[in-house]
Amino acid sequence: MAGEPQSDCLFCKIVAGEIPATVVRKTERVLAFRDIAPKAPVHVLVIPHVHYPNAAALAAAEPEIAGELLAEAGAVARDEGVEDYRLIFNTGAGAGQTVFHAHVHVLGGKPMTESMV
Ligand code: ADP
Repeated sequence: MAGEPQSDCLFCKIVAGEIPATVVRKTERVLAFRDIAPKAPVHVLVIPHVHYPNAAALAAAEPEIAGELLAEAGAVARDEGVEDYRLIFNTGAGAGQTVFHAHVHVLGGKPMTESMV
């Protein structure tokens, strides 16, 4: 069922505490932890506890949690002391998504001036 934990999902296992992660923020509905392979001095993933395959699916089904995900991403940047940062939602394998549990990357702490769009 939509939103239910998936036994084969890495991020569901992190939410359940079955796989360790360096958690930086936690609310009843959202978890933020450091990316295991950081691409910038600050690289944190913010995920909902509930399982949806990507952020758009989360937003369509549970807009309040999607809003909290964004608010928490901003709070992570503030906690980490980065004023300028990039939020990335890779959506679909062709866009580089490798973990199919909704998440946003918070990247900062170095100049990221090259634009992708
Ligand atoms: P990509 O691998 O292209 O960044 P995603 O947008 O799906 O694709 O991001 C998944 C992220 O999860 C990657 O940045 C990866 O380094 C990170 N990751 C994978 N396993 C773990 C883990 N056990 N703990 C923390 N981060 C992880």
